[in-house]
Amino acid sequence: MGDILGIHHVTAICGPAQENLDFYVGVLGLRLVKLTVNFDDPSAYHLYYGDAVGSPGTILTFFPYPEGHPGRPGAGQASTVHLSVPYGSVPFWIDRFTAHEIDFDRPQTIDGAERLRFRAPDGLQLELVARRCHAAAVYWEGSPVPKQNAIGRIECVTLVERKLGSTKSLLEDQLGYRPVGQTNGKQAFHLGDGGPESVLYVKEDPTGPSGRQGRGGIHHIAFRIANGEAQVDSRLELVKAGLNVSAVMDRKYFRSIYFREPGGVLFEIATDPPGFAVDEAPDSLGHSLKLPPQYELFRGRIERTLPSLRLPTFLI
Ligand code: ZN
Repeated sequence: MGDILGIHHVTAICGPAQENLDFYVGVLGLRLVKLTVNFDDPSAYHLYYGDAVGSPGTILTFFPYPEGHPGRPGAGQASTVHLSVPYGSVPFWIDRFTAHEIDFDRPQTIDGAERLRFRAPDGLQLELVARRCHAAAVYWEGSPVPKQNAIGRIECVTLVERKLGSTKSLLEDQLGYRPVGQTNGKQAFHLGDGGPESVLYVKEDPTGPSGRQGRGGIHHIAFRIANGEAQVDSRLELVKAGLNVSAVMDRKYFRSIYFREPGGVLFEIATDPPGFAVDEAPDSLGHSLKLPPQYELFRGRIERTLPSLRLPTFLI
């Protein structure tokens, strides 16, 4: 197909919305680029974080379900989101995680990149990757993290699979990835030259536990595609290859199709347009609750049901 441009966003299920906001904005320094509801369940928020303008490839999104069961990492799940940070910034992040009592591992240098693995308060596993060719994003001037240390683009995602075989075929034959050898015991796949958002790691784990979706776990990974036309073509190709692909869904900020890859991880293909400035000015992204037209009529009830949130702009 060759139409996939890399990772668009990663979506996870999280704990309380305020805890999530305090961590991703207040500690990691990302911008809240959209405050909306889960389009399939308007009783829950959908929080989107990213760079200053919400560029595809920088977006982490969350469904807060604080009362939900915890997720379990394992086969058939994506386990880790890897985020690019500037070379030399790891000591800054160690100090910051220590000050905010964030759980992190000892940094490691693998394949020329310094890696700092850490966990969000709900247990989601993330890793900062500092390499000389840092994948910078559009810096948000409101960030509590200085520009020279700021998180850039999503570098890659790790999938855990019982067997590599059929997932490898899908990545190669339908999504345009190519295997490029092992990194830290995982099979690496690149799109094109393997720049930012163009890498996937697949860890084969034939005997470990099966993963279970839940709080603190990744719900799905979305891949970028240029526009709706390319998406329709790609959908037809996936259906032809025997995959059970959803209809095109209007997610307001992008259009999406969903399918499960053979190992069980939920994949989405999302269009770059129209983006997050479609319903509020770029300067005020994330400042107020945005609802899709079908829920606008119920705004009062929805606002009364959702917990109130406080934006931690200067939580340093
Ligand atoms: Zn998504």
